[in-house]
Amino acid sequence: MDAAQETLGMMAEETLDPRDWADVQALSHRIVDDAVAHLRDVRERPVWQEMPGEVRAFFTAPLPRSPSPLADVYAEVARNVMPYPMGNIHPRFWSWYMGSSNLAGALGDFLAAIQGSNLGGGNHAAGLMDSQVVNWCKQMLGFPASAGGTLVSGGSMANIIGLTVARNAKAGIDVREHGVAAIEKPLRFYGSDQIHSCHRKAMEALGLGNRALRRIPTDAGLRIDIAALRAAIAEDRAAGFKPACVIGTAGTVNTGAIDDLQALAKLAHEEGLWFHVDGCIGALIAIAPENAHRVAGIEWADSVALDPHKWLHAPFEVGCALVRDAVAHRKTFAVTPEFLESTPRGLASGEWLHDYGLQTTRGFRALKVWMALKEHGSDKFGRLIDQNIAQAGYLAGLIEAEPELELAASPTINIVCFRYQPGLRGEALKALNTEIMLRLQEEGIAALSDTTVHGQHWLRVAITNHRTRREDLDLLVRQVTRLGRQIAAQRPASS
Ligand SMILES: *Cc1c(COP(=O)(O)O)cnc(C)c1O
Repeated sequence: MDAAQETLGMMAEETLDPRDWADVQALSHRIVDDAVAHLRDVRERPVWQEMPGEVRAFFTAPLPRSPSPLADVYAEVARNVMPYPMGNIHPRFWSWYMGSSNLAGALGDFLAAIQGSNLGGGNHAAGLMDSQVVNWCKQMLGFPASAGGTLVSGGSMANIIGLTVARNAKAGIDVREHGVAAIEKPLRFYGSDQIHSCHRKAMEALGLGNRALRRIPTDAGLRIDIAALRAAIAEDRAAGFKPACVIGTAGTVNTGAIDDLQALAKLAHEEGLWFHVDGCIGALIAIAPENAHRVAGIEWADSVALDPHKWLHAPFEVGCALVRDAVAHRKTFAVTPEFLESTPRGLASGEWLHDYGLQTTRGFRALKVWMALKEHGSDKFGRLIDQNIAQAGYLAGLIEAEPELELAASPTINIVCFRYQPGLRGEALKALNTEIMLRLQEEGIAALSDTTVHGQHWLRVAITNHRTRREDLDLLVRQVTRLGRQIAAQRPASS
């Protein structure tokens, strides 16, 4: 070894790659075996369990500055993380509103990370697949092939994309250049009083402010009241505002109500407003043969937000924004900095996908959606949506047949609101049902959430779950009545 080699040896470069590939291959096989077993046995485990003190303490450990063998790192994850999930892949998880993931999607996420491509743009296969998945979303909703679209982190971001294009298209000035302060008449957006909270954040982030989103009352079915909307638009025009956009909800988060999208499309057209649909819950009902009629008119929207991590059960995160006018979409976000110029050939000759949203670097979200759609076919996802809606109807029937339970209303789609009702009212009734909900979670039986609709508190079951069976709903009703009786017996009588 000469002096130069010696210096090189002393300065041997480091890498994050394993020293022994065979070793890491064996460990990887074990992780995959454990992961598949985790999924196979999900029904046998509690939906959720509280973490013991030592698990909580584990997450307060300081930054590790020196290495540990990967096998030891995995052992820590297996011990402290995997047994304490949120629970949404479990067949009896019905809280809030989320999908239940799937194996092909999980493998897709793994392979996407292994390839590690950046979907901000460029000429490579992942970029083409990203555009293909957006095109498949257009096909599922009956949107024209010429529409624009982009995969984003979820429904909230998909709504922001649509609403940003709406703002810029309707502002009457170049908002990108001059900002919202230069808009002559203040813009007004409209949605129902059931609109998702992400729209408030969107209004704030867009610089329009929460008050720019006018909440319109809903009818008995919790759908936007079209006559009230028309009156509000007229009133705003007379008061010097500029009505800009109506947001229809296809599936509200409280009860699954679907606004009359055809009527909204017609009204928006007559009034010259942008028509955006928040379809995070319901847009994909368009592929469900029994229920597709419920979202008729969605294909007329100027923009739609949909959420493949809900009813397509993609592993988190993936949302999708579609914008009918691809030029307006691009004009809202496209910037070409000097370091991202295209070349006629080679790596930089592909489309710059960051021109359709706010992110520059974009992950390979498409693969998990693509693999699951290829494995099962979109028809099956449509049938699973119908299955969940039928299951909600089945649960509503069980609740109606049980005298101790009260059903809020017949479910429109897959969300059922109900409560245990031993003849209580107000806060006492809410406290009893809250306790039922917490014990269902703590005993690992089922995960429900709750909500308040028109001042009434309800337990809420949202079945966006391809693992749920009717027997799980039978069990839910038995357990709610058992816990209701038990808790009511323990409580001092009150009104
Ligand atoms: C879930 C949901 C959102 C937000 O979507 P995320 O994927 O959670 O960001 C928006 N609107 C409705 C109606 C939803 O159900």
